Amino acid sequence: MPGAATISFNCVDSSLSSLKNCQSYINTGMDIATRVALDLVESLNDVEEVNSMENVMLEYAAMDRELNHYMRAIEETVNQMKRDKPENIPDLQYLVKEKFTALQSKNSDSDLQRNEKYIYFKDQLKEMRKQFCLQSDNNDNEGIEQIDEDIAVTQSQMNFICPITQMEMKRPVRNKVCGHTYEEDAILKIIQSRKQQKKKVRCPKIGCSHADVKRSDLVPDEALKRAIDSQNKQSWSTL
Ligand SMILES: [Zn+2]
Repeated sequence: MPGAATISFNCVDSSLSSLKNCQSYINTGMDIATRVALDLVESLNDVEEVNSMENVMLEYAAMDRELNHYMRAIEETVNQMKRDKPENIPDLQYLVKEKFTALQSKNSDSDLQRNEKYIYFKDQLKEMRKQFCLQSDNNDNEGIEQIDEDIAVTQSQMNFICPITQMEMKRPVRNKVCGHTYEEDAILKIIQSRKQQKKKVRCPKIGCSHADVKRSDLVPDEALKRAIDSQNKQSWSTL
């Protein structure tokens, strides 16, 4: 780079990697908060406690957004330096801060609602309430207000059966696109073999029109797994 100032990006790289570390702590925190909330629903369905976990999730989501903005500001500044090759080394800190502030100024609550882990949290809680209110028949519970009206009681046992293996699921995964659940091993095997034939995977649930099941759309259905385990525990104890 003749004429251009040589800027070392080593310190930038190391701060970026420590930010990424922070982000992995946030992700772990969100996973733990989700499990705690599911425990709360399973054991006592304490609405207030569950709501406080939701606030924790939103705080994590806000931290995650802030980190993302910071990393983006750093990356954009580095790219700008590489592109413009300035004669004198500019105030990098100022440039990053300027970009960061611009990104933060566009913040809105709806960003937090779109956080992937937060969406998973809400979805799993809803599922958990469905499963456990159906089981306990506890109609005076406040949590029941949040349950969809379209749930029929007869459906609850059916949900435990994998549409592929026709057996009770041990590790259910849910398709984020169509909402159906399958045994993890079974659906992964199908995806694998169709992939070798370069073909798309149709959702194995009868009546489902979703014709492109992707591995990346599958998430573990912790709520359903707990419901299955809990039912099995109950049937064992009544033997
Ligand atoms: Zn489906």
